[in-house]
Amino acid sequence: MSAKNPEYDFKWCPGCGDFGVRRAVEFALSDRLKETEEIIENTVVVAGIGCSGNLVHLLEGPQPFGIHGIHGRSLPIAFGVKMANPDLNVLTVAGDGDFLSIGMEHIAPQATRNLDICSVVMDNGVYGLTKGQSSPTTEYGVKTSSTPYGKVESSIDPLKYYLTIGATFIASGYSSKPRDLAKLIQAGMEHAGFAVIHVQSPCTTYNDTYEILKGNAKKGIAPTIYDIPEEYDRTDRLAAEDLLNSSGIPLGIIYEDTSRPSFTAENNRVKEIVKIRDISDLLSDYDF
Ligand code: SF4
Ligand code: MG
Repeated sequence: MSAKNPEYDFKWCPGCGDFGVRRAVEFALSDRLKETEEIIENTVVVAGIGCSGNLVHLLEGPQPFGIHGIHGRSLPIAFGVKMANPDLNVLTVAGDGDFLSIGMEHIAPQATRNLDICSVVMDNGVYGLTKGQSSPTTEYGVKTSSTPYGKVESSIDPLKYYLTIGATFIASGYSSKPRDLAKLIQAGMEHAGFAVIHVQSPCTTYNDTYEILKGNAKKGIAPTIYDIPEEYDRTDRLAAEDLLNSSGIPLGIIYEDTSRPSFTAENNRVKEIVKIRDISDLLSDYDF
């Protein structure tokens, strides 16, 4: 139960990866406070629905504003918050079932808009809150409560998807490395554009992938996660494609494009034009 919100008594299961993501968000926010001297009230965390969305209630330390929204709609709500006050630091937290299924249709518009927010996606390959149904990132053939004969659809590859739709900052993290993850989240918050931090955050109750991710030498299981080499050029889109086409799950910043203006910058540019022109002058831009 959060000390800040004693009315809300949701609890994550022991070992849930979301504990590590919560710790990383706390580290990232507190480091940001020290570095920018911004007040914590300048940050808004918008959560979706799912075990992951409860993070907004469970954050310890300095308290940002929080909105626990509706399923799949963390991005439209974050868009509204950012439009109302572009100076706010806006973070979304959601799971794979929320962000990549019902919420999928909202990702590409914000990527093309380059909305300057940071989205943290907790991927456990399952719908945990509703007791273990398959999600978009559940692997083909896996038996879940909704796929008793094995999942018949392929899983989606979120990192490739973010790159394809034009997200300008893409990072991949792991919940058991909260310090590393915090750095990725902080970099995502600093990025002037649409940043997605996709996190492997295992569900110990319905899809425990810890061993698959980190490996187990005693059982001869090789890890699937690995750190991106230091010499990797994250501004090189072709290198990002190669990285994502190779096997394993790379951890670190996969892609960063600082050349595109953020939505806030574009909005300000248009506002300046609108300010100095009257309506008849503006209408002359259109070929009626
Ligand atoms: Fe975490 Fe899974 Fe438990 Fe939900 S059901 S709290 S995702 S371990
Ligand atoms: Mg999930």
